[in-house]
Amino acid sequence: MGGSIVLFGPPGAGKGTQAGRIVDLTGKPQVSTGDMLRAAVKADTKMGAEAKVYMDAGLLVPDSVIIGLIEERLTQSDAINGVLFDGFPRTIPQAESLAKIAVVESVISIEVPDDAIVERIVGRRMDPETGDIYHITFNPAPSEIESRLIQRKDDTEETVRARLEAYHSQTAPLAAWYSERGLLLSIDGNQPIDSVGDAVEGAVRATMSN
Ligand code: AMP
Repeated sequence: MGGSIVLFGPPGAGKGTQAGRIVDLTGKPQVSTGDMLRAAVKADTKMGAEAKVYMDAGLLVPDSVIIGLIEERLTQSDAINGVLFDGFPRTIPQAESLAKIAVVESVISIEVPDDAIVERIVGRRMDPETGDIYHITFNPAPSEIESRLIQRKDDTEETVRARLEAYHSQTAPLAAWYSERGLLLSIDGNQPIDSVGDAVEGAVRATMSN
């Protein structure tokens, strides 16, 4: 029962949006390397300053930094029964390192075509108080919190193109890697948020009953 789940997919696939549902269902804490890096940037740590250069350019942060973050995170007591990885692993070396320190019980891949991604990311907004994610068209925030929403610095069209390029060259090959290990569950992410959520929930329940 101590396995971890990986939420996999391109930037803007809806991983962060769907993570809450999996957390509610499984009780496993969400471990988002993107959130951890943004917290390090905000706290102005040495690692945060190093990571920021890559993030602002839409490039992947070096594996050694990411693996160090994850190793440390998994020593915390709430990780004992597995976690929900969101945005990690993003390279084959990261997946190989993860396989040495944790059991991955399933990889839920949310598939969205490139041409839908730019529109999703450029319209994405975040509530800095709760971390909740909205979209100006597809998932508008309640009007009373609208004025406090922020846009991520790397959610511009130019940076999205670089992030998609990094995804296709470095991250997408992981789908085959996990599929060969019998762990990949693919979901159509190009449908309304609730339908994606239902499909994600079905995949998680199937994993839990195994
Ligand atoms: P995300 O919030 O998951 O879209 O991550 C934002 C940015 O943080 C990415 O564009 C990368 O620069 C960096 N990042 C997050 N997770 C990873 C990872 N597992 N490996 C490398 N870079 C990452």
